[in-house]
Amino acid sequence: MKRLMAAAISLVVAIAAIGFGIIWFLPSAQDAIMARVVASNVAVTTAVLDEDALHVVLCGTGSPVPDPERAQSCAIVYAGGKVFMVDSGLGGWERLARFRLPVDDLTAILLTHFHSDHISGIPDIALNSWASGRREALVLYGPPGVETVAKGFDLAYSLDDGYRIAHHGADFFVAEGADYLPIVVDVPDRHAGVTVFDEGGVKVTAFRVSHEPVDQAYGYRIDYKGRSVVFSGDTKKDENVATFARGADVLIHEALADHMVGLLEQGLDDTGDRRAKVMHDIPDYHATPVQAAEIANEAGVKLLVYTHIVPRLPNALAERVFLRGVSAIRSGGVELGYDGLYLELPAGSEKIVEHDLR
Ligand SMILES: [Zn+2]
Ligand SMILES: [Zn+2]
Repeated sequence: MKRLMAAAISLVVAIAAIGFGIIWFLPSAQDAIMARVVASNVAVTTAVLDEDALHVVLCGTGSPVPDPERAQSCAIVYAGGKVFMVDSGLGGWERLARFRLPVDDLTAILLTHFHSDHISGIPDIALNSWASGRREALVLYGPPGVETVAKGFDLAYSLDDGYRIAHHGADFFVAEGADYLPIVVDVPDRHAGVTVFDEGGVKVTAFRVSHEPVDQAYGYRIDYKGRSVVFSGDTKKDENVATFARGADVLIHEALADHMVGLLEQGLDDTGDRRAKVMHDIPDYHATPVQAAEIANEAGVKLLVYTHIVPRLPNALAERVFLRGVSAIRSGGVELGYDGLYLELPAGSEKIVEHDLR
């Protein structure tokens, strides 16, 4: 029996060695494997295109604080054939590509404000949605100032646009696709929202939040077939978010744990690092996890998801410290967002189906 076992193991090892040898030394075998990998990597995640649901994917849940696990601010919403991004920070495109999310039919980017971590990924989105087939100018909705942002990117990338068209042809890269179409959304009144978009059953509303000295800064609410998602944008605790998130299914709210940032400030200060001042200054225009939970409770949302996570949370202990105090005021319907969180909200239902695209 023992001898039989030994023979069987030897046979398995020999077959594995031969298989490895074939792959290692035979280019045609390597190419066949590569072709399969490529095929699985280019397959588009089509579930988000189902028009009987509102689909929300987080493609960046970080901030300007470097974080290998989190791209800067980025979310994408698919509803009724429309595709809206909410902010476009650095690294967002890499996440969208990794999760194989379609961007060829990008309707617009909704910008909450113009801090770098919310706009620095726009050129990547512009180029890649153009390459994917977008033939019209990329629409950017945002507070007054959006035209300056569009003009700046337009100028900075005008040479690159020319190279792309010259190399791949004007049939592939249609010239209009290189352009931006900035649309200024003016929300003059803190208490009144402004309808940014209302077409095909998809309604987008902009409302004011508090992120001074950034003025104006917006949150956005997207409604589709009775389901809704609200983005707070960057804001300190602001009742206006509760007002506009009233009865929404999902609230994606920014959060900065001031008790952790205080420790960072102390650590930087101890080593004479002048960036301690930045850590000292930032808590006053962001909301804490507990404050965001209070807003979610006030609004009566089903699910609160934290995004724009500050500081970096490298392990479970850090996550626990970040969420300190939250469970005391909100025992359920709350979670830490992550890059790749996909929430599917089917029409005619109360359900929030969660998928992990990582
Ligand atoms: Zn900001
Ligand atoms: Zn920010």
